[in-house]
Amino acid sequence: MTRRPSDADWRRLDRAVTGRVRRPGEAGFRAVSSPFNKRFAGIVPAGVVSAVDTADVRRAIEWAREADVDVVARSGGHSYAGHSVSTGLVIDLSAMNTVSADGASGLVTAAGGARMADVHAAVQPHEMAFALGNSATVGISGLTLGGGCGAVSRKFGLTADALVATTLVTADGQVLHCDADTNADLFWACRGGGGGNFGINVSFTFQARPVADCATYLLVWESADAPKVLSVLQEIVRQAPDEFAARIGVSDAGGPDTIVSAIGQHLGSAQELREILDPVLSVARPIRQDLADRTFWQAKDDLRHETAEGAFAVRTNIVTRPLPDEAIATMLSFVGRRPASGNPDGGGAALFSWGGAINRVGATDTAFAHRNAMFLLSMDTSWAEDDEPAVVEANLRWLADLGDALSPYVSEGAFQNFIDPDLADWRTAYYGVNYPRLKEIKHQVDPDGVFTFSQSIGS
Ligand SMILES: Cc1cc2nc3c(=O)[nH]c(=O)nc-3n(C[C@H](O)[C@H](O)[C@H](O)COP(=O)(O)OP(=O)(O)OC[C@H]3O[C@@H](n4cnc5c(N)ncnc54)[C@H](O)[C@@H]3O)c2cc1C
Repeated sequence: MTRRPSDADWRRLDRAVTGRVRRPGEAGFRAVSSPFNKRFAGIVPAGVVSAVDTADVRRAIEWAREADVDVVARSGGHSYAGHSVSTGLVIDLSAMNTVSADGASGLVTAAGGARMADVHAAVQPHEMAFALGNSATVGISGLTLGGGCGAVSRKFGLTADALVATTLVTADGQVLHCDADTNADLFWACRGGGGGNFGINVSFTFQARPVADCATYLLVWESADAPKVLSVLQEIVRQAPDEFAARIGVSDAGGPDTIVSAIGQHLGSAQELREILDPVLSVARPIRQDLADRTFWQAKDDLRHETAEGAFAVRTNIVTRPLPDEAIATMLSFVGRRPASGNPDGGGAALFSWGGAINRVGATDTAFAHRNAMFLLSMDTSWAEDDEPAVVEANLRWLADLGDALSPYVSEGAFQNFIDPDLADWRTAYYGVNYPRLKEIKHQVDPDGVFTFSQSIGS
């Protein structure tokens, strides 16, 4: 923080906005300020303003500039790196969560503080959707700005690919509507350029698509079957239609065995799904097998995936071709010797099926450059807030070593939505060829760097 605001400063903010201003110790402060990832629970803002409308957002930014205080936006609060909390002012958008959906046009407009559950509630009555991630509590703002993937992404593309317009408040207080024709550069940047960089988005409009019944599956194998299962599953994804999605996981949750699993969805029948999965079902018999027809909305609940609770760290890479046997062996060997921690959620590695519609958009058409992926590789570990520093250190070391050991088999790209504070070369990894254009746009729209954090564009 550049300056500690005085009590008079805070009173001035309180008078300027309609929403509530809270300071540490006040009722409700933690609910609007604590990060999802408890690794960053020690960062306590000087104050939080819970904006109720665009005017509040403008006045809060203006106040932060006048008071010379750092400012960050917070929507769902799910930044892996705790980037929606700082020691300055947090502008909390959670009260701005209305979502409207028009069944005739398929247009869905969500206010900047809406979470996935709010969006689902609005679209379900119209039997339509777009990629909405696998969690009910993630914010639409962070999800969209960093690209946003979900189980339907091979068919429907990214959340950002469904975006048709957004409105944001810039550092100098302008309220800018952005779409393909108006403020087109900023619109481009808001589709994958990452949260917190260009201003505070107060509204997003998406083009949803009709959805129908589908099928889901959860398969678990014994660890002895892992090498062949992982190999065959990758091949299944390579050949499967865009309707098929998989999250292939290898995890350690502190028990004696590594758990090998596949969970996913097929936008078709259970019969078709069984045929797609047949090569892996016949190579190794699962110890658990749930495979069934579902409504689209039952499937959403089946696929809900919460990352580790407590404190965690995640490293990602883009995978453009199947991992060879030696990479699978390396992954399994690492997961089998993950350091113990007090967090029962454990750690491991997962391959999320990408490609399909995601790759039918050009790498420079939007700010999201990862348009040649077959999988997103996500590696993670977790610990309890009261674990000794040596436990945290051992887990972070393990994660870094796992990432390094797999680096010969993956591309240098990393997913900006699974933002990794320990990633050194994040500019190239997140944004690739698009970084120079993003930097130019950042300079135009925020020349004084009002929206700055450790991995902000231009920092
Ligand atoms: C449990 C869980 C499940 C997840 N599942 C998925 C998934 O299925 N698919 C996927 O792609 N990602 C997923 N993610 C990652 C998620 O998309 C990112 O963490 C995302 O940034 C979270 O957005 P948020 O609004 O909740 O977070 P926040 O922490 O509020 O914000 C994230 C970043 O965006 C900035 N920001 C917030 N609001 C605004 C705004 N209105 N305007 C401009 N900047 C803003 C913040 O300052 C911060 O830098 C998941 C994360 C978690 C923790």
